[in-house]
Amino acid sequence: MSLDINKIRNDFPILRQKVNASPLIYFDNAATSQKPQCVIDKLVEYYSGYNSNVHRGVHFLSEKASAEYEKSRSKIKAFINAKESSEIIFVRGTTEGINLVTNSYVRTFLKKGEEVIISAMEHHSNIVPWQILRDNNGIILKIIPVNDKGELILEDFEKLITDKTKFVSIVHISNSLGTINPVKEIIKTANKHGIPVLIDGAQSAPHLKIDVQELDCDFYAFSGHKVFGPTGIGVLYGKKDFLEKMPPYQGGGDMIKTVSFEKTIYNDLPYKFEAGTPNIAGAIGLGAAIDYINEIGLDNISEYENELLAYATAKLSQFPELRFIGTAKQKASVISFLIGDIHPYDTGTILDKLGIAVRTGVHCTQPLIDSFGIPGTVRASFCFYNTKEEIDILAEGIKKVIKMFK
Ligand code: PMP
Repeated sequence: MSLDINKIRNDFPILRQKVNASPLIYFDNAATSQKPQCVIDKLVEYYSGYNSNVHRGVHFLSEKASAEYEKSRSKIKAFINAKESSEIIFVRGTTEGINLVTNSYVRTFLKKGEEVIISAMEHHSNIVPWQILRDNNGIILKIIPVNDKGELILEDFEKLITDKTKFVSIVHISNSLGTINPVKEIIKTANKHGIPVLIDGAQSAPHLKIDVQELDCDFYAFSGHKVFGPTGIGVLYGKKDFLEKMPPYQGGGDMIKTVSFEKTIYNDLPYKFEAGTPNIAGAIGLGAAIDYINEIGLDNISEYENELLAYATAKLSQFPELRFIGTAKQKASVISFLIGDIHPYDTGTILDKLGIAVRTGVHCTQPLIDSFGIPGTVRASFCFYNTKEEIDILAEGIKKVIKMFK
């Protein structure tokens, strides 16, 4: 099926505007995606029609809000093919999902001197929580290296595993290079050694069909705002066996069954991990975003975005001054590059003057960018509402940058 891009673009009101007198070209989708009208409408509907706290009231509004909140959880269960809705924990985003796992599972079950493996292409949110544990609890952090194409060196992964390795946490798709990691293979290897695996799905959930049962990962985290939903909401999937034995991450209302000063009985899953009033509007909006993605179809989305990636790669290859950073065989629709020795911020600023939004800098992956010996990159990340015509305009913009700095 080919996508009707004009119709799709019409669903995103933000794309209709001009920036610096040119039509907005939004190529910063890896940072956050834009929101279709149906998601915006769902938020307005909630706040103007049934704003109320969940799981607490017996009154109409609270029952309606609770039902919609739980309906979203079921949609997410189906979206990533979890076995049960109780395995879906609402969190703030990928960052909080990872911090929940480090603070609950890892802090409880790993002992001083035991080892955790991450990779050299992790986002800071999958590095710093582990360093906090390293510094406070004495775990040892080991890093899978990356080759100069920006691919994980998998042979080294098995070599890093010892009988002290107790956890692996890996990014599915690199936000700065676009590399798609062979997570299924990594999970299989880890499982062979009985090691649990967390997948950082911040960049994969918007672009690939995810089946957590087929992947057989123990945890999978993603952010609502990258899958066309609101900010401040995300998901941590965890296998029930793990979640059952993990202690709560935060204490407060809703995560308890009974409280006395002597003893508190925690609530069942998933509520044990959802202390306090959650982001109700965000969760309901995320449900609407999932409906929207399902309507277009992730297979269609992947196919079209691959086409955009191939087109952009060919188009930008015409510039001898342009150097691609990240040339993995398996890539999602992200192009990171440098033009000669022009600083990425300069390129980004000139492109902005033409209405083109790209990201510049280290993209919250400083160790990875440092390993290339560069100050940062310019990153154009494409989404299904982008077009080849927009890529042509990007190429024109790059031509201008090159001319200006000659
Ligand atoms: N991991 C990756 C790969 C990401 O791209 C991001 C967001 N840039 C995160 C984690 C963190 O996501 P959030 O800020 O939504 O928690």
